[in-house]
Formats: sequence, C-alpha cells, structure tokens
Amino acid sequence: MRVAIAGAGLAGLSCAKYLADAGHTPIVVEARDVLGGKVAAWKDEDGDWYETGLHIFFGAYPNMLQLFKELNIEDRLQWKSHSMIFNQQDEPGTYSRFDFPDLPAPVNGVAAILGNNDMLTWPEKISFGLGLVPAMLRGQGYVEECDKYSWTEWLRVHNIPERVNDEVFLAMSKALNFIDPDEISATVVLTALNRFLQEKSGSKMAFLDGAPPERLCQPVVEHIESLGGEVHLDSPLREIKLNEDGSVAAFHIGGVKGKDSFDLTADAYVSALPVDPFKLLLPKPWKQMEVFRKLDGLRGVPVINLHLWFDRKLTDIDHLLFSRSPLLSVYADMSITCKEYEDPDKSMLELVFAPAKDWIGRPDEEIIEATMSELHKLFPMHFGGDNPATLLKYKVVKTPLSVYKTTPGCQQLRPDQTTPIKNFFLAGDYTMQRYLASMEGAVLSGKLCAGAVDQKRDQLSSSTPVSEPVAA
Ligand SMILES: Cc1cc2nc3c(=O)[nH]c(=O)nc-3n(C[C@H](O)[C@H](O)[C@H](O)COP(=O)(O)OP(=O)(O)OC[C@H]3O[C@@H](n4cnc5c(N)ncnc54)[C@H](O)[C@@H]3O)c2cc1C
Repeated sequence: MRVAIAGAGLAGLSCAKYLADAGHTPIVVEARDVLGGKVAAWKDEDGDWYETGLHIFFGAYPNMLQLFKELNIEDRLQWKSHSMIFNQQDEPGTYSRFDFPDLPAPVNGVAAILGNNDMLTWPEKISFGLGLVPAMLRGQGYVEECDKYSWTEWLRVHNIPERVNDEVFLAMSKALNFIDPDEISATVVLTALNRFLQEKSGSKMAFLDGAPPERLCQPVVEHIESLGGEVHLDSPLREIKLNEDGSVAAFHIGGVKGKDSFDLTADAYVSALPVDPFKLLLPKPWKQMEVFRKLDGLRGVPVINLHLWFDRKLTDIDHLLFSRSPLLSVYADMSITCKEYEDPDKSMLELVFAPAKDWIGRPDEEIIEATMSELHKLFPMHFGGDNPATLLKYKVVKTPLSVYKTTPGCQQLRPDQTTPIKNFFLAGDYTMQRYLASMEGAVLSGKLCAGAVDQKRDQLSSSTPVSEPVAA
C-alpha cells in the first residue's frame, strides 16, 4: 500500500519505518525544513547546535532501544551511571544522589531510595513505600485508575507528607511534563515510578551522542528510502480532503519555497501531527465525532529550552541534573554529556525552563536574566568572588504548545491509532499507548499505527494514482 503520513517527528518516522519494513510505501510530508519535530535541532552561526529540548533516553524505553538496534546505531547512545542526581536546596552547589546498585529490580530501586538520607526522612520513606504497594501489586490497571487525582491529591489520599513533593516530586513532575505536582496526573508519575522500580535498568539514562535530526532521524529516513519510501521537508499538510462517504480523498500539501501545492493521494492516510495543529485541520464533518470532539481536552503545554555557553567549566558531572529550582527543571553540561558538543575547557549548559506559562511570552533577555540568578544558586563557587564565570552567548528555544498537558482526566480523552474513518489513522505521543508524552511514546505510537494500517491491508489496498501536482 501507498501510505501518506503527515509529520516527520519520531511518531511519523517510526510509523513510516515499520510500514516500509512490512512492504508498504510510506510518503512522509513534513511542514518544516528540519526532521524531528520536538527533537529538532539547528546549528548557530558558529556551528554550535541548539535544540528544541534536552532529551534523555531511559532504559525503560523498549521500543526506542529496539529502533536503535534495528538501525544498527546503538553505539550512539551514551549511557551514564545508574543514578539520579538532585541539587541540594539548603546547600547551594552540592548534590544529593540516588545510586542504583547492580541488583535485580525492585531491590536496586529500594536500595537507591533507602540509601539516600539527604532528601527523605525514614517516616517519609516508609509512608511513601507503603503508598506505592497498590501500584506495585496491581500494576497498570491501578495506575490508570489514579488518573482522577493530581499527584499532590494522590499523596494526600495516601497520607504521605507533602514535603516529599518539595524534596523529590516537584523536580520529577517538571521533568515529566513541565508542570507542577498540583497539576500533573498521578497516572504519569506512577507510570514512571512503576517502570523505574520494576525494570532493573528502567531509570538508567542515556544521552544521544549528537543532534537528534542527524544522529537519530536521518538514519530512519535512510532506512525508509532504502525500502522505496519517501520523506519530504517543506511540505505542510494544509487540508484533509474528503470523499462523499467521509473517508479521506487526499492530503492537500501546501506549496512553500517556490514549490507547487499538490494533492497527495494514497491507500491510507496518517496524521502524525501534534494534537494542536491536527485539531485545526479537522474536516468539518469529522468535528462532531466523539473521538475527535474529545481532543478538545488535550492541549500542548508551554516549555522553554535554554543553551548557555560559558567561558569555563562549571561542573565535571557527566549526567542529567535535577535543579530543584522553582524556574528550572532538569539540566546538563552538554560539553561533557554529549560527544558532539564536547569542549574540554568551556561549559554549555542546556536547561529546561518550566513551568513556562508565565514566561513563554517574555523577551529572551528576561528569561536569561532570571536563569542566571538561579545559576548563581546552583554554582555559587563560579559566580561569586572577583573572577565570576562569563556568559559568552545563549540560545532560547520556545515551544508554546509542546507535548499535551497531562492533567487528571486526560487518559480517557486520548484517541487510539485507528479512527472511525476507514482509511485514516493517528500517530503521535498523545495517542493512546502506555508511555505517555515521550520519545518512547511517539515511537511506540508510530509502530502501533503501522500495525493498524497493515491489519487493514485487504480493505485498503487499490491501484491508487500517484501524487498529482495542483496549480498553486
Ligand atoms: C523541552 C522538551 C524536552 C523533552 N524531553 C524529553 C525527554 O527527556 N525524554 C523523552 O522521552 N521525551 C522528551 N520530550 C518529549 C518528546 O520530545 C516528544 O514526546 C516526542 O518527540 C513527540 O514526537 P511526535 O512525533 O509525537 O510529535 P512531534 O515531534 O511534535 O512531531 C510532529 C511533526 O509534525 C509536524 N507538523 C506539524 N504540523 C504539520 C503540518 N500541517 N503538515 C506536516 N507536518 C506538520 C511538526 O513540524 C513535527 O515535525 C521533550 C520535549 C520537549 C519539548
């Protein structure tokens, strides 16, 4: 079958890859001039990379790791020590660690928690451990039921002191969805904890060895093309054209940069767009259908990704750091953690600024100024004294609508990869799969979508005409 896929983020590329593997011909159309969507990156005037987001790959990402294996690029993942490292709030410039010993799960996770005495008291550890028992015993079914609570409400229901939020979960909830524990669904935090506690290497982290469009997306594109598929940049889906029976007749692709617009026709059609732009393109007759109406409740959350280049090394830590700052989420010194960004003398901090709703509309200079005050607390030794570190340059990347905001009640709004429209399918991290809004979720959604299309091959395949250029 010929399958038209709109969106070359990880979901669209994964969908195309698995369709191509199954013998179909995917045609991917991407609006922008760069691959990757939320993992997109660009080079600045000096040749330094800057990215949409600081991205971490977890041991608990089976579909992503399988993809690396299938592409034979596993060596591009730079695995770090099995630890989680938090900045200490009361002692600026110091860290508190959760180190996972080389033992089977969940013993290694329990040992990591029990071994950390800086952040949680023994009564807090015990009440939190007891609270997690239902999740451990009843698994994902229980985790899904908890979508009615925010994380803070879940803590209250289990009589767990809210101080554990300040210590651990404020940082974790910002890292998971760029929002605070009062807003995030308990399902999201419990899903992550479950994976981390049930899989020995679940919480182990890796950095990619360079920029995702080149080091991850490009090999997927090459694989797709080697099997006869196509990937086109600068090709935005502008309209989903319908047949009289409500099925898709064509994807109308806008003409940009001097190209003609055209109707892309295929046997099956996939939207791998994020939920917000997809809602804008919904054809009128579909809008009242329940599956699409529910999408009204899903909306992207704002986030800002910062890159700060300094005149010296600020840290020697080769890992992700949880800042525990009210303005910042996680950060890393990419000059140490990522091979292609390596610099032996100078630090490049990449930081996620979240929650960003009050900041997304502000000028870059204000955001950098606020970040620098936070960095004074995180690195007092480098910004005090008479020879403080100098900021050489910075890049701010704002994403006003990033991954969907995972507030309570969202699980039942998420659509499946199949839709009531016989030749139309959905991929994207917001579609239903167990890894929520993440790279793993995007890759899995693409794989599930490819499977759903392939399953319908008998109903869908025909001798469809090829793309027809239409006058602009
Ligand atoms: C700051 C930040 C940090 C993150 N950190 C992590 C992390 O550490 N670990 C993790 O697992 N996940 C992380 N994520 C989440 C992860 O990046 C996303 O979940 C995932 O990349 C989403 O993939 P997707 O394919 O579903 O959507 P997208 O990546 O958004 O892809 C959708 C594509 O559709 C294209 N498109 C839009 N409109 C059109 C149109 N009209 N026609 C054609 N194409 C169109 C877009 O340009 C885009 O390329 C982070 C995200 C951000 C923003």
